[in-house]
Amino acid sequence: MEHILDYSWRQLRDWFISKGQPGYRVAQVLRWVYDSPKVPFDEMTDVPKVVRKDLRKAFKVFTMQVVSHRKASDGTEKLLLRTHDGEYVECVLLRDDKGNRTVCISTQVGCGMGCVFCASGLDGVVRNLTSGEILEQILHLKCLLEPEERLSHIVVMGMGEPLANLGRLLGALYRATHKDGLGISARHVTISTVGLPHAIRRLAELDLQYHLAVSLHAPNDELRNKLVPANRRIGIQAILSAADEYFAKTGRRVTYEYVLLREINDRPQHAQELAQLLKGRNALVNLIPYNPIQGLPYEPPERRDVARFVDVLTRAGIQVTVRYRKGAEIEAACGQLRRLHPEIASKSKKKKKKKSKAADENAVQTGETVSVVSGEGGNGKPEAALTDSVVMSGDPTVVVTDVEIMNFEEIAEPETSESKRDSE
Ligand code: SF4
Repeated sequence: MEHILDYSWRQLRDWFISKGQPGYRVAQVLRWVYDSPKVPFDEMTDVPKVVRKDLRKAFKVFTMQVVSHRKASDGTEKLLLRTHDGEYVECVLLRDDKGNRTVCISTQVGCGMGCVFCASGLDGVVRNLTSGEILEQILHLKCLLEPEERLSHIVVMGMGEPLANLGRLLGALYRATHKDGLGISARHVTISTVGLPHAIRRLAELDLQYHLAVSLHAPNDELRNKLVPANRRIGIQAILSAADEYFAKTGRRVTYEYVLLREINDRPQHAQELAQLLKGRNALVNLIPYNPIQGLPYEPPERRDVARFVDVLTRAGIQVTVRYRKGAEIEAACGQLRRLHPEIASKSKKKKKKKSKAADENAVQTGETVSVVSGEGGNGKPEAALTDSVVMSGDPTVVVTDVEIMNFEEIAEPETSESKRDSE
């Protein structure tokens, strides 16, 4: 059975036509899916009964099953979803007192970037999520809202590197932001990336008004190579220059995310170096005090060190915000809940055994400690991890393949005029 949201508008129209139905059934059925995702095909009352039966046989709206649902006292809710092929992904609903209802979604099962402080990257990437699976997370979270609540923002900061699955992500966001889709403003969408320059430029060319957040986490390549191993093939300057182009083309200020790890990247000299790096750029720095993860050796910064870091940046004229994580008691940080699931925990233990052997060998060769290369991405996994969507070549360039971008265009619904013509 297929995911109905993995079908492009045209594919769905062809499917209806093959059943002797007019093309406007696409809009009719998708309206139900976006507005009332829990309503089964059988209860879509304006669709002929015979078509409802065919829809039920052919498609599903929800292909992922909720295996864990946690609620925090601050209103944050987190879901662990099991995919049709037995993988696990997470998504989060965040509430604030201004009435914003933000969904944080994943784009991959696991992550190939290997950031050493992140639970999602610990076992590398398993596969890309499809457009339907990305959108389905939003629908699952939408179902948690009270009747008076509305989804207002999307942050693509869950599991995975979003720009490593760009085409499928754009397909999902197109529908999430389309007025005939979920209708969320494109200006309320933030895509967070470790910084894949080619994909950032591709995104800039498309000028989709999404907000770009670059996860920097270190002010120099030496430290960043250790914290974000994918940086070894890219380098901070290449990322900054792509981000500058993004700002020049879209006019949207880029945010630089910086997770503060005690005594690793939270020293005054790091703040000074960061200020120097971003000097003259219209940038916002978002400091995120680290949220400890079981099994990882990193600690949150002292409050006074956070204040000092903010002070150094502010004095240098850099705009700064500090984001304390929501939903800490429900393991809301990326990848934490998934790793607690018994199936993942046991898979991970087996992988860890294999990996520690490899890491020991690697440590001898490179002189680095095992903790620094603890993500699989730390020793060559990124290339293998990026699979069909992105190829990371020997130089720092990341190439988004034509196939991937075609997938985005294919899934996009045509202009309303075409929909209108169909309904005539
Ligand atoms: S922080 Fe983001 S990019 Fe880094 S490993 Fe985790 S999910 Fe991947």
